[in-house]
Amino acid sequence: MEGLILVWTGLLGACVGSFTNVVAWRLPRQESVVFPGSHCPKCGHAIRWYDNLPLLGWLLLKGRCRDCDAAISWRYPAVEALSAGLWISALLVWPGAGGGLPDLWLPWAGLLLIALLLPLVLIDLDHLWLPEPLCRWGVVLGLLVSTAAGIPLLASHLIAAVLALLLLEGLSALAERLLGQPALGLGDAKLAALGGAWLGPGGIAAAMALAVVSGALLGSIARLSGRLGPREPFPFGPFIALGIWLVWLTGPQWWWSTWLMLLGA
Ligand SMILES: [Zn+2]
Repeated sequence: MEGLILVWTGLLGACVGSFTNVVAWRLPRQESVVFPGSHCPKCGHAIRWYDNLPLLGWLLLKGRCRDCDAAISWRYPAVEALSAGLWISALLVWPGAGGGLPDLWLPWAGLLLIALLLPLVLIDLDHLWLPEPLCRWGVVLGLLVSTAAGIPLLASHLIAAVLALLLLEGLSALAERLLGQPALGLGDAKLAALGGAWLGPGGIAAAMALAVVSGALLGSIARLSGRLGPREPFPFGPFIALGIWLVWLTGPQWWWSTWLMLLGA
């Protein structure tokens, strides 16, 4: 029975991943996400429903448009697979994690959080931009979900969202003055506020620490290997989103105690 639930969750996650691809393409271009239906960006032909099946469609077409033979990016099936994996991971959330919400709520709330984070990550990767409406909705939904655990939790999540926003905006202004160029986008502050609304103060602190460590690590590798120029900006949003998701799944305590252990304390 449990295996069946995981399979169904993965399939649904792949379908939502397919829709996420559409959102990530159309939202920055200010196109409607529902109309018209999916079509090939090269030849404009509508995509047949059986070619539009998540993962399977791309595999059966061998990554080419049925009408004009244009290559279809491997990113589409990759995002569908990633979304499937994230949905399954949402069911495996640790009890007591997920920003302190009631355990029964955690898997469902987690799915909503993925639906918010994944398009933000894709759009930031493509355009170095975190759309403000999506971040704002993320904050509102996070606070709404938090009310399920009572007013004290809601209050602490609200404070976490405001503090995260102000702290990151302050840091961004400071870094810009010191470096003479924008270092942190203002979108990063809004995404951090989203994380605060979902995770609370302890959670967003751990998530930002994870984001800084993973971002610094990957950024250095990219610069040393020459894939990124010395002053070329790179999107930080995906690292914040990764931090938020990892802390959502386990709670912040596990990360702090693991770091302390690694530091030999
Ligand atoms: Zn085509």
